Amino acid sequence: MELKAEKYRSDDGISFIEPYLNILMVEDNPGDVLIVKELIISSGTKFRLTHASNLKETFAYCGEKEFDVILLDLGLPESTSLETLKKIKVFRIDSPIVVMTGLDDEDTALAALREGAQDYLVKNRLTSDNILRSIKYSIERKKIQDFLKRHAHQFSVLSSATASLSICEDVQSILKITCESINLLLDYANVIGIEPENQISARVSYADWLIPWHEEIKRHTGFDIKNPVIQITRSWNELVDSFGDGKLHELEGGLYDIFEGVIDRNECTELEKTVGIYNIYAFGLIKAENIYGGGIIFSRELIPSDDLNIIETITTQATLCIHRRSIEKDLRLSEYLFKELNKELERKVIERTTDLETANKLLQLELMERIKAEEALKKSELQLIELNATKDKFFNIVAHDLKNPFTSLIGSSELLYDNIGQLDTNSIHKLALLLNDSAKSGYAILENLLDWSRSQTGLLKYNPEKLNLSKLIDENISNVQLFASNKDIALIHQKNDYIYLVSDKCMINTILRNLLSNAIKFTDRGGKVVISTENNKDEVIISVKDTGIGISRENIEKLFRLDSKYSLPGTENEQGTGLGLKLSKEFVEKEGGRIWVESIVNQGSVFNFSIPLQK
Ligand code: ADP
Repeated sequence: MELKAEKYRSDDGISFIEPYLNILMVEDNPGDVLIVKELIISSGTKFRLTHASNLKETFAYCGEKEFDVILLDLGLPESTSLETLKKIKVFRIDSPIVVMTGLDDEDTALAALREGAQDYLVKNRLTSDNILRSIKYSIERKKIQDFLKRHAHQFSVLSSATASLSICEDVQSILKITCESINLLLDYANVIGIEPENQISARVSYADWLIPWHEEIKRHTGFDIKNPVIQITRSWNELVDSFGDGKLHELEGGLYDIFEGVIDRNECTELEKTVGIYNIYAFGLIKAENIYGGGIIFSRELIPSDDLNIIETITTQATLCIHRRSIEKDLRLSEYLFKELNKELERKVIERTTDLETANKLLQLELMERIKAEEALKKSELQLIELNATKDKFFNIVAHDLKNPFTSLIGSSELLYDNIGQLDTNSIHKLALLLNDSAKSGYAILENLLDWSRSQTGLLKYNPEKLNLSKLIDENISNVQLFASNKDIALIHQKNDYIYLVSDKCMINTILRNLLSNAIKFTDRGGKVVISTENNKDEVIISVKDTGIGISRENIEKLFRLDSKYSLPGTENEQGTGLGLKLSKEFVEKEGGRIWVESIVNQGSVFNFSIPLQK
């Protein structure tokens, strides 16, 4: 109606000029028809009036042609009041309607306006002027209504397409929405979507509307809509070069522009006539990651330029959406790669950090070891200094002790030498005895000192051998037996035949000799010395017990210390060396054992030492 109406419009598009008005009057009263006809004639307007006396005739006439206006009497034999208007609307009659009512029925007339009538005329007040005015007004009003409706429709299609496209994820959905939107917009046209199948074939989608012409299309083109994969004559890249901009391109050559080289021009024209194609547009093939899609619009009427603009807006948007998706995809890929790279970097950093931590720990361990070694060195240095100081003191003591026997040796030998002529045998005998004692005492000091110095300088080699302990003790007892007998001291050995040691015989002898001679030396005449052995699990303990003078607690502490001197003459003034116990401790420790004393003053002492048993 709209397009047809265009053809009758003047250039300025405002004034209403046409050869004649094409009027349908729906009226069961022929008298009323006559009056209306006369009134229009009297206005001088050119017109053709068709009269329908009932609804059936109305539908029949409207099916044949379009009327510029319908004058509708609401009170027909088969239908009255608003029902009449509603029935006409159901039949989708699009011409503007002016309802004709009676004097007393203006309310119905107003309701009819709400139901879609453009105007109303009151039958009893009809004049030539108001009929014509009402007809023109209705036609103009209908035009404006259609115009608004069309724009509202365009707006709704565009906004729904925009909303849907913005959330589309893939090319197929974008293409589908684009085709659907165009179909919604143009009810007199149809769209087919084209998706790439591969470089040489394409898939035709959303083309169900072609089904009625299935046979004709197949006959002319060989293309089967039911198997919609078609060979393409040009590669996608070429097509994209021509159309890949998202814009609308009118195919001037019609179908031949599509089927050139496949079917001839006449066939194309034939097919266009069969399907009723007025115009063909291809909307831009849309590009994404080397995949392209597009569509072809087949129109059976002239597409107004504003619809073309809207279609182009939609196709451009679709193209932009695909580009955006493609960019987003690239972005996601870049993001993914970036994250992967970051992960790799983090992994490397962790790896390096772990390496560094390990190296650091090793370094710290090394540092701690070094500190420990340095501390140990310092400690041993200190011990060495202490030991040296102790030894210096010790040598002072020994040198001082050596002086005594030598002073006595020198004194008594001088006395003998100076007075040998005047001295009687008894005095000479006494001096000779003194000489002998002093020499023995000096020798004993030297003997111990020699053993000591050998042990300190490493000259005294440690020679372990299997020793029968009882036998060894017996030998040492026999060495001091004479000394004990002279003092009337009993030497008792509490034997244990089964103890065998693996030790250095010389060292054990030195220890036993010193302990036994001390026990005799510091025990009064008539006393007793008992030697006993005890076999523990890991060691043997040898004890020398006497009934002698004993040693006080504070003196016990001095016995084994190198830096202190504690030496007393024996009960019969026997001289000592002050070295025996120190040497004994040295040897016991060399054997891996211990030495200790239990003593009560005036009751006696027990000197114990242990030697580890070899497994
Ligand atoms: P010396 O006996 O030659 O003086 P020692 O080192 O053997 O040197 O002994 C040091 C001192 O320990 C002795 O002088 C003595 O005073 C005391 N002593 C050692 N053994 C005994 C003992 N069995 N009873 C009492 N005193 C002892």
